[in-house]
Amino acid sequence: MELLKECHLCPRNCGVNRYQEKGYCGATNKVRVAYYSLHHWEEPVLSGTRGSGTVFFSHCNLSCMYCQNQKISLKGYGKNISNKRLQEIFLELQKKKAHNINLVTPTIYVPQIASVLRKIKGKELTIPVVYNTSSYENIGTLMAMRGLVDIYLADLKYFDDELGRKYSKCENYFETATLAIDEMFRQVGKPVLRNHLMKKGLIVRVLVLPGHTLDAKQIIEYLYKTYQDDIIISIMNQYTPVAECPYENLNRKLTEEEYEDVINYALTIGVQKAFIQEGDTAEESFIPDFDKRIL
Ligand code: SF4
Repeated sequence: MELLKECHLCPRNCGVNRYQEKGYCGATNKVRVAYYSLHHWEEPVLSGTRGSGTVFFSHCNLSCMYCQNQKISLKGYGKNISNKRLQEIFLELQKKKAHNINLVTPTIYVPQIASVLRKIKGKELTIPVVYNTSSYENIGTLMAMRGLVDIYLADLKYFDDELGRKYSKCENYFETATLAIDEMFRQVGKPVLRNHLMKKGLIVRVLVLPGHTLDAKQIIEYLYKTYQDDIIISIMNQYTPVAECPYENLNRKLTEEEYEDVINYALTIGVQKAFIQEGDTAEESFIPDFDKRIL
């Protein structure tokens, strides 16, 4: 695949030939998958009653110090598979009655995923495709997924670029991610729901970091001012400290007061379409535990 011979799939723009060497993310020309399954703890409009058909891709183009999936994202745990096997996995998940195919950190494998989806989407594969991303994306890469993705499930991690630099080793996160989110919205538009399940649209996740409620509020304010209720904001309290994180301030869970403060702010500025989490979801490791409430 030509794009992998000089890789500029993401804003790291390594320019390496992935058939011969590895760039920042550590991925080669082969798709590498850590895990796939029916996943019941995404936002309820994605998990529904039967689960979201989640495919966790190995490696990642961000290096979040607090990542709960470091074994997969930073250490590259997983198995190399062929495009044919990837196609089989998508169809197997559909056969198991998944409500959708949920691609987790797909950015670094977009050429391979797009090639598989072009063959089967709208033919053998009839369920929606979800692109689950950190939003640290190049627009050209997202454009390659136009017409192949029905739902974008995007993080907006930092308003303050200094936090992006410190916690995820990336430059210019906010501008990069917000331009990417604009492109996602252009592709999928306003949310379309049928029988409480999302068929099309954009969900933006805001994970509130301990001690950084102001940053979360600024993100929510930006999203609401830009898109009003044309997107769904998912405000998450599930931050879980990991042993490897070198920053002391991140070595605790979010307090109830911090989370409530952010939720109240969202309500005050008029946000109506949002998911919130209840209870101690931070115990759940990487598994989000959303309640069924929509604000
Ligand atoms: S996908 Fe990987 S190799 Fe390609 S530009 Fe991004 S980090 Fe570098």
